[in-house]
Amino acid sequence: SLTQRLSGTVERLRGRGRLTESNISEAVREVRIALLEADVALPVVQALIQRIKVRALGQEVMRSLSPGQVLVKIVRDELALVMGSQAAELNLNVPAPAVILMAGLQGAGKTTTVAKLAKHLKDKRKKKVMVVSADVYRPAAIEQLQTLAGQVGAVFFPSQASQKPEAIVRAAIDEARKTFADVLIVDTAGRTSIDDAMMAEIKALHAAVNPVETLFVVDSMTGQDAAVTAKHFGEALPLTGVVLTKTDGDARGGAALSVRYITGKPIKFVGVGEKPDGLDVFHPDRAAGRILDMGDVLSLVEQVEAQVDQDKAKKLAEKVAKGKKFDLNDMRDQLEQMQNMGGLSGLMDKLPGVGQLPEHVKQQVTGKEVPRMIAVINSMTKKERRNPDLLNGSRRARVARGSGQTPADVNKVLKQYQQMEKMMGKLGRGGMKGMMRGLSG
Ligand code: GDP
Ligand code: MG
Repeated sequence: SLTQRLSGTVERLRGRGRLTESNISEAVREVRIALLEADVALPVVQALIQRIKVRALGQEVMRSLSPGQVLVKIVRDELALVMGSQAAELNLNVPAPAVILMAGLQGAGKTTTVAKLAKHLKDKRKKKVMVVSADVYRPAAIEQLQTLAGQVGAVFFPSQASQKPEAIVRAAIDEARKTFADVLIVDTAGRTSIDDAMMAEIKALHAAVNPVETLFVVDSMTGQDAAVTAKHFGEALPLTGVVLTKTDGDARGGAALSVRYITGKPIKFVGVGEKPDGLDVFHPDRAAGRILDMGDVLSLVEQVEAQVDQDKAKKLAEKVAKGKKFDLNDMRDQLEQMQNMGGLSGLMDKLPGVGQLPEHVKQQVTGKEVPRMIAVINSMTKKERRNPDLLNGSRRARVARGSGQTPADVNKVLKQYQQMEKMMGKLGRGGMKGMMRGLSG
């Protein structure tokens, strides 16, 4: 799958020192194959690859991030961008009733989505929702909607197979107005493929109801065809968004990447199951993260990137590389950076597996410990910080008093310092980079 391929690529880059033209091409080739295998439309693949390449080449790899992480971030950003970068809300900002018109091929999931949307609007946005079926062709289509409406607690406006679709929707709008419904969702008929009569009918319906949202419902399992069908509909109807259904059964995941790029319309929801609660608001950034299967590790990368003071990290790395001694000033810098990142606890919970560690183990390196350690170091003189060997018994006692900690606390800080110092010596040239890589998993 797309996910497996991309994470494999990232895995291979993990050990590399930096992004070079050759390892970028190698990785980009993998990404390309992964996208094509996921049935992403070719123009979309080409555009994505081009952008990823340009960005990766222009990227100065930050000391704190490994090349794999940098590449993941670039790929993730670009995937999100091609899917729209931000969640697109439903617009209900019109005098009630706000009409939502559903369009799409037969079997795409329109009727099911009407019920899901009704539930969503009822539960999440406290709307009074009425639904109506203008599908006078498919046997039992109207009853199907009636049953679903009953399940989700939406008002069902009855219609007959003998009526004209336009007449049905006009009557429904009148009723919605009279009964003060906030939203009216109009279900329509689909055909097995696009034909002129069907397009003419949905256009006429659109003109009759003047919807604030016209949503194109499409089966994600049709892969890049999803985008092509959406494009055709988009040429006939002013679509305001797309609902991608059956993503729960779609292993390839390419449709989401093609739809936005090819149609220019945002994906607003994804269907994630047959039941009325199987609907999710579509978040391009999260979807991109899921495609890469990196989940919270990515937000961790962002955190490290945002919070680590690049200058200090660089200075320390240089210092260690030159064989200079790691002193208590350096330790304090690092502790402050940990604090900036919300303590290690914030970081640890994001690391796969680590979140499950027993509480007392986490406590040791998190919470109040870091500020206390900083307080101890602050109570030392400049000279002591630069040369910790000076800290004999009486000096330690003074530091303890000055920082409001016990002498045992001071000893603990010094012991941790010794461990860090030893580690820094071992890391040598890898210095800060190695350390941050350790931190960011
Ligand atoms: P319509 O012809 O466009 O109205 O399609 P329907 O709403 O009748 O749905 C066709 C089939 O797809 C039904 O069996 C639905 O249960 C199923 N379906 C719709 N959306 C989803 C979804 O998100 N996930 C899954 N697994 N099935 C879905
Ligand atoms: Mg239907």
